[in-house]
Amino acid sequence: MTERTFIMIKPDAVRRNLIGEIVSRIEKSGLRIAAMKMIRVPVELAERHYAEHKEKPFYQDLVDYVTSHHVVPMVIEGEGAIARMRELMGKTNPAESPKGSIRGDYGLSVLENVVHGSDSP
Ligand code: ATP
Ligand code: MG
Repeated sequence: MTERTFIMIKPDAVRRNLIGEIVSRIEKSGLRIAAMKMIRVPVELAERHYAEHKEKPFYQDLVDYVTSHHVVPMVIEGEGAIARMRELMGKTNPAESPKGSIRGDYGLSVLENVVHGSDSP
């Protein structure tokens, strides 16, 4: 099934000049970039985006981090795009992500893990 999913290149990756590398991996996988922009996330938007984590001990660090620098939100489109993006990204924790996955190759920590991927359309 053709799906569209929300992906975001996070501040740690934008800071380290990894936008092109990540975009390239997505395109080479056969998925399509349907929309893309670069923004600075307002605190209110970060709080809404991560509302499900409000009670977690890392919530404030997460909001501070995602608002610390520009990000690149994208709409990614293709057959099974959600699962295929999850595979390209690796696990939440870069240390548990395979080499060859985006987080496995570039992740700094559980918090600074290069990309956000949605688990739904
Ligand atoms: P994302 O939603 O960003 O694709 P995910 O679904 O793999 O990642 P979630 O559990 O939804 O992970 O957590 C959202 C984000 O919160 C993670 O990507 C990471 O940046 C941060 N995070 C998650 N768990 C921790 C933790 N234990 N310590 C610090 N930061 C964390
Ligand atoms: Mg999540």
